[in-house]
Amino acid sequence: MINVQDIKTAQENITDTIHTTPILQSAQLSKLCNNQLFLKSEHLQKTGSFKIRGATNKVKQAVKEGAKSITAASSGNHGQAVAYIANQLDIPATIVVPTDANQCKTNAIQAYNGKIESCGTTSAERIPRAKELAEAQSGIYIPPYDDPYIMAGQGTVGLEILDQVKDVDAVVVPVGGGGLISGILTAIKETNPAVKVYGAEPDSANDTFLSLQNNKITAIPATRTIADGLRTSQPGDLTFPVLQKYLDELVLVSEEEIRFAFSFVMERMKQLIEPSSAVAIAAMINGRLPLENKKIVTVVSGGNVDIGKIEELIVNTNIK
Ligand SMILES: *Cc1c(COP(=O)(O)O)cnc(C)c1O
Repeated sequence: MINVQDIKTAQENITDTIHTTPILQSAQLSKLCNNQLFLKSEHLQKTGSFKIRGATNKVKQAVKEGAKSITAASSGNHGQAVAYIANQLDIPATIVVPTDANQCKTNAIQAYNGKIESCGTTSAERIPRAKELAEAQSGIYIPPYDDPYIMAGQGTVGLEILDQVKDVDAVVVPVGGGGLISGILTAIKETNPAVKVYGAEPDSANDTFLSLQNNKITAIPATRTIADGLRTSQPGDLTFPVLQKYLDELVLVSEEEIRFAFSFVMERMKQLIEPSSAVAIAAMINGRLPLENKKIVTVVSGGNVDIGKIEELIVNTNIK
């Protein structure tokens, strides 16, 4: 298991590459949530999500170990982050994407000089292909969450929160494969265990919720949640034990609740966040957590949205 020292080392490794993202506040959102709400704004991070933190920590390590190339299997935020940092470090990257990958996502990867290879429609097809390519090119495959360097890199979000929001009572984090929350849990619980850390998932992508309930990693079938960064089918072998050890609670939100949170933040705060990030805010808006009049940080994990699809995500946010 990683520890807080690994995260401090990661912070030193990545500090010249990433932004220390701002904390945003909205009186209206705080009022709606019955708590003082702070948004840790990773949608304003380089490449538009926190994924650049873990990717930078891991790719720098791979270069140290003599890697001649980098591969990853993701058309989403992880793929963009890996392509970006590989380009910065002048090492070739191949990103394996599904054959039906969205053009604007592959364009973003190519803009960072990432080479695109299309393969199948499932991660079960893409991951072996990315590993095979790495092997053939004296390279290293960069996994999206289940890796100590990735987890430690994502954990730097937790260190920044403790630094930026004095007396924070609780932190709410969206959960996919668990890289982000396992890093944040380690950073926070090993620095100040009095701070509560909660996870939030879409109710249609409740693999971590079920895994915690069953006390073992439990897979779910493919899901179509609009929170596309949280569509993983199961938590990781390395991330899940960290959640079992430290997590205070994991809660679920509906697709409608995600849309409302997304729309509210866009309309009132003028911030474009992605639905995956809206999941944590939705948990607060809908009172899923036992918190009142507390200082809460919700982690806004990213802001990459296909702008042609925004209209489909918007709902009316009039509040009686
Ligand atoms: C990857 C991602 C997540 C989930 O992170 P995990 O480490 O897989 O739990 C949440 N939000 C966004 C925007 C992401 O890109």
